[in-house]
Amino acid sequence: MIVHPASKDRPYHWGPFPLEALARDPAVAAAEIARPRIGPAPAALGASPLAGALKRYLEIFQSEAAGSPAPEQAPLPDDLARRAQDLKGAAYFMDASQVGICALPESAWIDDVAPDAHDHAVVILVEHGRLPEQGNLARDWIGDAVEASAAARAGEIATCVAGHIRWMGFSAHAHMFGATGLDMERLAVLAGLCQRRDGAVVNPFLGRAFSLAVVATDYPAAVDQPLATTAKANPLKYWFGINGAQSGRERRRRARRRSDMSRYPMETVKRVDRPTTLILDDETPRVPARAAFFERAAKGDLGPKALKERARFATKHPLSASQRGMIVSMVPHQDGPAADADGAALEDADRNTAAIKSLAYFLGADLTGVCEIPRYAWFSHRGDGSEIEPYHRYAVVMLIDQGYETMEGASGDDWISGAQSMRSYLRGAEIAGVMAETLRSLGMSARSQTNADSDVLHIPLVLWAGLGELSRIGELVLNPFVGPRFKSVVLTTDLPLTPDKPIDFGLQDFCQTCMKCARECPCDAIPYGDKVMFNGYEMWKPDVERCARYRVTNPKGSACGRCMKTCPINKVVDADGALLTRMASWLGVNAMWAKPLMVPFAVWFDDWIGNGRRNPAKKWWFDHEIVGDKTVAALKGANERDIDPERPTDPAKQKMAYYHADMMPPPDVLTPVPVDRKAASAAAALLETPEEAKARVAAGKPRPAHYIPTPPVGPDKEEE
Ligand code: SF4
Ligand code: SF4
Repeated sequence: MIVHPASKDRPYHWGPFPLEALARDPAVAAAEIARPRIGPAPAALGASPLAGALKRYLEIFQSEAAGSPAPEQAPLPDDLARRAQDLKGAAYFMDASQVGICALPESAWIDDVAPDAHDHAVVILVEHGRLPEQGNLARDWIGDAVEASAAARAGEIATCVAGHIRWMGFSAHAHMFGATGLDMERLAVLAGLCQRRDGAVVNPFLGRAFSLAVVATDYPAAVDQPLATTAKANPLKYWFGINGAQSGRERRRRARRRSDMSRYPMETVKRVDRPTTLILDDETPRVPARAAFFERAAKGDLGPKALKERARFATKHPLSASQRGMIVSMVPHQDGPAADADGAALEDADRNTAAIKSLAYFLGADLTGVCEIPRYAWFSHRGDGSEIEPYHRYAVVMLIDQGYETMEGASGDDWISGAQSMRSYLRGAEIAGVMAETLRSLGMSARSQTNADSDVLHIPLVLWAGLGELSRIGELVLNPFVGPRFKSVVLTTDLPLTPDKPIDFGLQDFCQTCMKCARECPCDAIPYGDKVMFNGYEMWKPDVERCARYRVTNPKGSACGRCMKTCPINKVVDADGALLTRMASWLGVNAMWAKPLMVPFAVWFDDWIGNGRRNPAKKWWFDHEIVGDKTVAALKGANERDIDPERPTDPAKQKMAYYHADMMPPPDVLTPVPVDRKAASAAAALLETPEEAKARVAAGKPRPAHYIPTPPVGPDKEEE
């Protein structure tokens, strides 16, 4: 749920609230430090199924809160302000509402003897979510879990930041609700986030509606000054977001939308009965998880270099390494038995659908849709070769924004790219995991399907749930409001639900003319040519092998998301977004008849104003790489590219490889099955156009042989 300060000049690490505009008073610190020690706060986070699930996830984060630092310190600047920029940037990137840093006084420890030699505290404040409207079933679910939800998020962020610091070679411990020896409220005052008013610790923007977590560390960074007791925001500047922070009017706009609607006006987008790209329902094969190219790299199919790098490519930065540890720790909790409970209260599909969407938004999803799960969206086999029998009827599909501002600061394939993916995967796993556990407690079978462990393909589900259209990037759905800048997570369940319809916002026309992602792809993996039929789907088919190799072995960055970065639809369209962008977005969704005229101009204009270039005001991270067990300076010349409007885009010069279903590895062979690129290039000859496929189906001709996946070899043959 990353928020989007409007100003291109506002440094990212200042955060979404205009804290910098508040008066400071260093004298407050002495009085605060001198306050008598206080005992631990009473630990109670509600008794509902949702509060129980959140507590379980808080415990998962607590289990990752401490650990040994890397054996050597990373190369770091002496400039303490630059270090604070990195720490605050990381916390804001993970969705902290506000962050402050202070020296950690002895009096902040609840016990007389401090357990660690930590002298700095990074204080993380997370705003409470809002309760759904009266009559919405989710109001009952969420009622006593508001504090638990914010406490879990604060704990998750603190755990990530602490892990990030430890990878840089310093000691760090995440303190959170129910597992801290610190007086976190005192630290919130010292770090300039809160004031004491009438005996209570309050935030100038949020009052008491927040939860806290703290990272205690011996890593020195610049500290903030406490707020003056009289400090308050200028209401006019806050309302209009004049200092570049998120505006009060945008906050009010979001708060006024129904809780089962996202902050984006998806209700204004045209709905259609089927996705805008052809899917041959009866011919599209179920494929094994083993055939995905990241999985193929992990099994050694792309050779030894890709095999070696596959294990670390997205987690070779200190922040993404920290995120990855938490993703892995959530996997065992994705599934479980449903409680033996009376499901009578859950029979109304419309009511359930509104409630499940409200719950998703409350927990931090950016966009949510529902669909029935088509047969071909189930993998045929898991990564370990075991067969999958479809087991749930519905999918709740959620999109997690990867963060506009951090994307603005990046080239798309530099050192933060892996952390962008991991952040969204982590957040998605947490949201869907908590939702699944809550439903199971209510007696309903449910499982979260995450990037770390999924029995379903997400792309067809994102399409059918009405969250986007297939784009030129290929195996990637694009949403009208966040563009391609998201990761998906899915909750599968038998809870009765009402499916959404697919959407049509004219993307097929837009991508037909726009080539920006293809032009900017560093390895030429996105086609310049027309759509084809691939395994039953009409799509611009990318060279997935080439893309996977680049992402896995990128020596000057961690992974890649450059197509996402440079797409003209990677924008902010809320009330704080630029007026021109908002107008263009409105026209794009509401004046589709004008698209053929508008698109060439829109693409030219997007280049002309420089969209897709890096914005240095938004770069908060260090270019660091983990090698072995320590963090070192990344290779000189991190990918520092900007857009290249003059690059030729001639489809005749582009040689793509097509690994049809019959070229997939057997699903149960876990040893290397090397790719045959020559054969995959020759397989271009097998491609049908969508028109040819439709004519073939209409003529009653059978599905092509190359749509039939390579079968399992079976246990006997594997032993031979
Ligand atoms: Fe190209 Fe990077 Fe996008 Fe892959 S992720 S298609 S390599 S720009
Ligand atoms: Fe489509 Fe252009 Fe975005 Fe590529 S960059 S996905 S062609 S709109």
